[in-house]
Amino acid sequence: MADKYVYLFEEGGAGMKNLLGGKGANLAEMTNIGLPVPPGIIITTGACKEFSASGQKFPEGLEEQVKDKIKILESSLGKKFGDKANPLLVSVRSGAPVSMPGMMDTVLNLGLNDITVGALAENTVNERFALDCYRRFITMFGDVVMGIDHSKFERILDRQKLKAQVNFDNQLSGGEWREVIEEYKKLIKRETGDDFPQDPMKQLFMSIYAVFNSWNNDRAVVYRRINKIPDELGTAVNIQAMVFGNMSNDSGTGVAFTRNPSTGEKKLYGEYLINAQGEDVVAGIRTPQPIASLQKEMPVIYSQFEEICRRLENHYRDMQDIEFTVERGKLWILQTRNGKRTAQAAIKVAVDMVNEGLITREEAVLRIEPAQLDHLLHRRIDPEARLNIVARGLPASPGAASGMVVFDADLAEKLGQEGKKLVLVRTETTPDDIHGILYAQGILTSRGGMTSHAAVVARGMGKPCVCGCEALQIDYDKNELKVGNLVIKQGDIISIDGSTGNVITGTVPMIDPGLSAEFQQLLEWADQIRSLGVRANADNPEDAAKARGFGAAGIGLTRTEHMFMAQDRLPVVQEMILSGTLREREEAVNKLLPMQRDDFYGILKAMDGLPVTIRLLDPPLHEFLPDAEELMVEITRLKLTGGDKTEIREREELLRKVRSLSEHNPMLGHRGCRLGLTFPEIYAMQARAIFQATARLVEEGLNPIPEVEIPLVIEVKELAYLRELVDRVASEVKKDSGIDFHYTVGTMIEIPRAALLADEVALEADFFSFGTNDLTQTTLGFSRDDAEGKFMRAYLDQKILADNPFMVLDRKGVGKLMKMAVELGRRTKPDLLIGICGEHGGEPSSIEFCHSIGLDFVSCSPFRVPIARLAAAQTKVRSDRSARQDYSTL
Ligand code: ADP
Ligand code: MG
Ligand code: MG
Repeated sequence: MADKYVYLFEEGGAGMKNLLGGKGANLAEMTNIGLPVPPGIIITTGACKEFSASGQKFPEGLEEQVKDKIKILESSLGKKFGDKANPLLVSVRSGAPVSMPGMMDTVLNLGLNDITVGALAENTVNERFALDCYRRFITMFGDVVMGIDHSKFERILDRQKLKAQVNFDNQLSGGEWREVIEEYKKLIKRETGDDFPQDPMKQLFMSIYAVFNSWNNDRAVVYRRINKIPDELGTAVNIQAMVFGNMSNDSGTGVAFTRNPSTGEKKLYGEYLINAQGEDVVAGIRTPQPIASLQKEMPVIYSQFEEICRRLENHYRDMQDIEFTVERGKLWILQTRNGKRTAQAAIKVAVDMVNEGLITREEAVLRIEPAQLDHLLHRRIDPEARLNIVARGLPASPGAASGMVVFDADLAEKLGQEGKKLVLVRTETTPDDIHGILYAQGILTSRGGMTSHAAVVARGMGKPCVCGCEALQIDYDKNELKVGNLVIKQGDIISIDGSTGNVITGTVPMIDPGLSAEFQQLLEWADQIRSLGVRANADNPEDAAKARGFGAAGIGLTRTEHMFMAQDRLPVVQEMILSGTLREREEAVNKLLPMQRDDFYGILKAMDGLPVTIRLLDPPLHEFLPDAEELMVEITRLKLTGGDKTEIREREELLRKVRSLSEHNPMLGHRGCRLGLTFPEIYAMQARAIFQATARLVEEGLNPIPEVEIPLVIEVKELAYLRELVDRVASEVKKDSGIDFHYTVGTMIEIPRAALLADEVALEADFFSFGTNDLTQTTLGFSRDDAEGKFMRAYLDQKILADNPFMVLDRKGVGKLMKMAVELGRRTKPDLLIGICGEHGGEPSSIEFCHSIGLDFVSCSPFRVPIARLAAAQTKVRSDRSARQDYSTL
């Protein structure tokens, strides 16, 4: 027996998304809970898969199954395909398991032909309406199914309007529509050599064929690549009886979210148009009405709709995005899905739903996509700033963006790839602009509402967007836009504020973000759930304080090299490096001591009561010296201009030193603990500065917790030697100050040898911290800059590596070393403290891995701390859930 390829709505349900697609599964679900959904049938994704696999052939049995189910539909509705009195009309809608907005276009009014259009006219006593439906159908069918450019239909329509001397479609008479329809048919014949098909069954199968094919059209393929959606899923096809929002003035169509998708506020949010069909609302042809005015215009419908929204939210336990149509005073629901939302809205909706008793705290924590939070933790326009606001549109996606004006998606992509900041400005966007939107900092459109393509896509990507800014007159031919008298050309800098809708000339001052009350609440729940600690990487007291404000439980990495680079210190550092004798060196080092002590004092104070890992000097010394080539140029210049002899000699001496310190491969050169071995005075000074600061804070009644970290260790004996040095300095400071304090000494694990010998290294270490930036470089043998600049693309394009290992932890290789090091280290010391301080510490999938191998904490940049707190909680919930499942299957 052949597979079952076709389902009635009654036969499906929300749990069948993979088979029936998201749209189909939800139409079935709504049918079964008794909502007013026009009846229909669904062709499975399985049929699409077989179609693609077999070189575009319908699978065996599909056609019969479709015909059988259509018969059931016909008899339940008392209508028939092609019937002279009561014709069945349907829509054909694609619907993949994951929502792919606007990827595959819907065909409405299928089943109309020269005969049935007459029946529709008679039954509705409205010939204009019937002809309007017919011409829409021919356009959609010609465009989507037969592949004729939409603009060719538009041109015919424009010509007719000119001839009739009217501005709007709805001013054309029945006779005039008839002429348009005849022109359309001729166009189709001319373009394809075929007549427009009159047989509804033929129309239907051609449409099904087109939907299946569209799964592999360019924009669908691009969208799947960007969003990492597997190509194998396939799309379902929904065939649904038509309802008409364009039948009369007590008809209409609209879309609404059950809550505000921008802010999360619990209030219906959406738009509708009276006497309109399907995509009219989002197409930006007429500007739609806000949903609130439906309450006045159609109070009964509005309260029915509100009630349905409430039911759907309770049923799905999430915010819904709903499409509806009103046909002569009767409400129909045409789609529901979990609504896309901004990070801000996602947080508010999740927290509110917990408070409403709709979902649990764990579910709330899982509802937020950590990567999305990035957006909230970004900078926004300083509210104190004086702005040159030139226009205001709709605040469609929050956040602010500045950049040069670009009118074309291809150009936006090109400039974006060059690293330019830009704002994509269009009258409206379509799925064909996706690649440009991807590279834009923000999107600005002159037409379309809050549910227009630009708005939906921007919110999904977390990009600022202002749309429907009707004051803008965009001229693509001249590559410029006008606002009143002001002319803005392509390349000029503008800013947009997606939270207010403001359009501003020039750049704008931005300020740091804060956490909203809901965000704090959610993070508190996350903290209660997670077991993994979250620290921050911070090199100065300001960043440390910021990290603490974002909820960091300590500093996982303080790098000391930046402290050496500061303007006033560099000469002393250079003196230290260049000194010929130990005595001279010690003198220079002693000058640095009070400066370093102040640094550590500030950081330890800001993190009072929390641990602070301080890494001793890591980079090679020549990084602090001037560049050899610049020195040579300077010496030559001095010589040519008869400069001072001693000055020339000094410069030449410096050049010799620079050259002697220069290395063939600095990454693998004289750095890290190797410096500590050859210049112990430097590490001794740093240890002294740390401990003197610690002693002082203890004296002041505070509770500093320093963790001294030795970088780049490969062998326990290095660590033993340097630990002894640190311990010696500590007892000296204790003795001199008469103050007792606590500290620990540990190491960074960033070279494979240290990971391989972790059981030995642990003998001398109180803690490990994985420096996964270097560990990735040394494990793969990739220097990061060279890799990302030259060959990483090839590795990713050819799928040799799934992700850039400097961004997403390479679990297979680097991760294996980490897992081994954790096991070996804890074999020696069962409660060895272990963390990670590479950039991976703030990346959700890497955080998941760190949790799974039993790390104590991750450490990341201060702004990513909230993301890490949330990701750590999500990992905990998921791993607990799958552990429970494992037990249940035993
Ligand atoms: P998309 O996935 O792009 O939203 P849809 O299949 O949801 O495409 O349909 C596009 C538009 O057509 C929507 O406004 C939808 O409500 C409308 N529509 C689809 N099917 C019908 C139908 N049977 N009757 C009336 N309107 C319909
Ligand atoms: Mg839809
Ligand atoms: Mg390192």
